[in-house]
Amino acid sequence: MNKGILVVVSGFSGAGKGTVMKELMRRYDNYALSVSVTTRAPRPGEEDGREYFFRTKEEFEQLVREDALIEYAGYVDNYYGTPRSYVEQKLEEGKDVILEIEIQGAMKVKEKNPETLLVFVTPPTVEELKRRLEGRGTEKADVIASRLSRAAEEAEGMDAYDYILINDDLDECVERMHALIQSEHFRMSRNTEFINRIKEESKAFNK
Ligand code: ADP
Ligand code: 5GP
Repeated sequence: MNKGILVVVSGFSGAGKGTVMKELMRRYDNYALSVSVTTRAPRPGEEDGREYFFRTKEEFEQLVREDALIEYAGYVDNYYGTPRSYVEQKLEEGKDVILEIEIQGAMKVKEKNPETLLVFVTPPTVEELKRRLEGRGTEKADVIASRLSRAAEEAEGMDAYDYILINDDLDECVERMHALIQSEHFRMSRNTEFINRIKEESKAFNK
């Protein structure tokens, strides 16, 4: 069995990453979405262990000391990190594992695992980004301002990603995400075992 693909999805806060991921997971069962640990407070409707593992700063620092996180980063006054064991287990099972993380964490993951597929999700315009962030209604004005300012910084790093996905029509964005991850399975460099076997077997036809 081939190992799954590690996919990192980043994008400005309010771009719709969470919405796209939820829909992708609902439609297809070959993905495993990593649940991160965070020190931020849960939003209304968020559940511990579903959207995030909500932990104190001390508990988070303990996980860092235990090397239990693949990567972690600070984002607007809080820490966020990816638990290692789930990701490794699901990749081994052949699932495509998706990390929905910000850009610093994305770069760390890519550095450690060069085969990681990096996807950047944006809204069609920055006006729409502001509208979505305000419309979500989960942050106060000062936090929204910090997140928009962070978006400006993150925009500078977008070029490091493999693909850009514009989340205008949700349905289209979800299907494109699925299509591009699935195409990635057929990349030559991900099929070396099969390629070597075919090469070897074809030698039988040599005259
Ligand atoms: P992120 O996870 O990137 O911070 P969310 O998934 O929370 O963003 O989406 C931010 C807001 O935008 C939510 O209120 C969500 O319902 C809305 N949204 C997401 N995708 C779309 C879309 N394609 N069109 C319109 N609104 C969207
Ligand atoms: P939010 O508070 O809106 O859920 O997330 C804020 C930012 O943190 C988003 O850009 C999100 O992708 C990112 N994030 C979530 N989990 C992780 C993680 O485990 N590691 C890193 N580096 N970023 C994360």
